[in-house]
Amino acid sequence: MSKKIKEELKKIKDEIINCKKCPLYDYRKKNNFYPVIGEGNHWAKIMFIGEAPGLNEAKTGRPFCGAAGKVLDELLDSAGIKREDIYITNILKDRPPGNRDPNKEEIESYAPFLEKQIKVISPELICTLGNYATKYILEKYGLEDRVQGISKIHGMLFSVNKIKIIPLYHPAVAVYNANMKSELKKDFDILKKFN
Ligand code: URA
Repeated sequence: MSKKIKEELKKIKDEIINCKKCPLYDYRKKNNFYPVIGEGNHWAKIMFIGEAPGLNEAKTGRPFCGAAGKVLDELLDSAGIKREDIYITNILKDRPPGNRDPNKEEIESYAPFLEKQIKVISPELICTLGNYATKYILEKYGLEDRVQGISKIHGMLFSVNKIKIIPLYHPAVAVYNANMKSELKKDFDILKKFN
């Protein structure tokens, strides 16, 4: 079983690395960036989904390793969750130029990798970080009528079949606005019971 999960995740990784038709493939290559596949526990109960890699992530190939990642680490710590127990990935696996928002074509082209990762990891709880991941996941699970801006639905718990979804503010909001950290910490408190 464990070998199978590892093999399947490796297959997804290879597909991403070699995805020449992915809209940000050329940009990745031109800049010597890495694709950011995702990392963490292959049996994670909780999966975090962000938007897209930033510069630090594209330079290292690791999700949430820059300023937003530092905030995420702090929030996980406040909820008593170990980073090695969860799985973290993004919708886009390559950095958009200048850290701009992902566009529709990029989301459509990278989302199938995320779909496969969700299927293989099979988490009990998906925490979406920010508007893009939240919209994508709520729509994927047939909750399109529940999609609202993250300031309206952060911290809410949605259940569909056996999966639970909690939209959260993107940790980047607390990088320049320290007041947001306490708001985020309150939402992360809800995660304690899933740990
Ligand atoms: N922001 C994201 O959405 N993902 C990362 O990996 C880093 C910053």
